Amino acid sequence: MPATADPEAEARADLAAIPTYYTKVAAVSPINAGLIEVELGGGLDEFATLGGDEFFYMMMPRPGAEPIPDDYTMAAYMAQTDDERPMGAYYTVRRWDAERRRMTIWVVVHGHDAGVGGWFERCRVGDRVVIWGPRHSFSPPVEAREQLLVADETGFAAVAALLDETPPGRPSTVVLETIDEQHTIDLSGFPDATVRWLFRGAAEPGTGDALLRAVRDIDLDAAWLVAFGAAESRQITAVRRHLRDDVGMPAASVFMTGYWRRADD
Ligand SMILES: Cc1cc2nc3c(=O)[nH]c(=O)nc-3n(C[C@H](O)[C@H](O)[C@H](O)COP(=O)(O)OP(=O)(O)OC[C@H]3O[C@@H](n4cnc5c(N)ncnc54)[C@H](O)[C@@H]3O)c2cc1C
Repeated sequence: MPATADPEAEARADLAAIPTYYTKVAAVSPINAGLIEVELGGGLDEFATLGGDEFFYMMMPRPGAEPIPDDYTMAAYMAQTDDERPMGAYYTVRRWDAERRRMTIWVVVHGHDAGVGGWFERCRVGDRVVIWGPRHSFSPPVEAREQLLVADETGFAAVAALLDETPPGRPSTVVLETIDEQHTIDLSGFPDATVRWLFRGAAEPGTGDALLRAVRDIDLDAAWLVAFGAAESRQITAVRRHLRDDVGMPAASVFMTGYWRRADD
């Protein structure tokens, strides 16, 4: 790398090079009491999937704002102040249908009408969404023979997408937190996955340490394991620390991401 390189400018240029697509809501249907499936289609002819836990930053105008222009890019986004930017949040590609050029996402309905989740809850077929991506984080080491997948509802799409790609015969231990039985997803199509459900009941999402305690209870062999986690930031950080410090997993085998952050009380 030349001595004059500016790593921040390079990082900005890398991000600005990620494509922006202008697509639309093509179908909406419920998955369970707290999760909706949204299909996006149109404008995705050039999309090249990365697979795995790939995700997009999805944008729509703030309430009352002008539509997002057709030539809007991430370079324009970066040049704007927070107040000028469209509303946006990250969502995982649950499924990519290469033939129909449609992508499916799973959106958690979390009761904050003003945000992106609320927008998807109210959206109609034909509503326009500007999406920036894809990017991904999960890159399992080649020697991995078993996987641990840990998530709250926001990570269900990523966990299901990763299970879709897991070679037959490779065991997965899956630890998932949600409200109750009515808020689970069907993972019966994955016979190599051992699924443990954790129900928080009336407790607020993002509180408690059930994910950490459940992972602590599992006898893990750091040698062959790769771990993916997606949940509230502080909860998944606690799981990462346990896997790194107590189980002794190397950093290259641990992919734990805070998918949202609970507001401080
Ligand atoms: C890489 C990545 C992939 C993701 N994939 C998905 C996905 O596939 N499906 C999905 O639903 N989410 C996913 N998320 C999480 C999603 O981006 C966040 O939940 C985001 O905050 C939602 O934006 P919002 O505008 O609705 O709420 P915000 O305006 O960001 O937040 C408003 C309020 O709601 C609270 N809040 C935000 N999310 C939740 C939640 N899930 N439960 C309870 N309270 C919440 C916040 O703490 C805040 O108080 C992903 C995040 C990342 C980083």
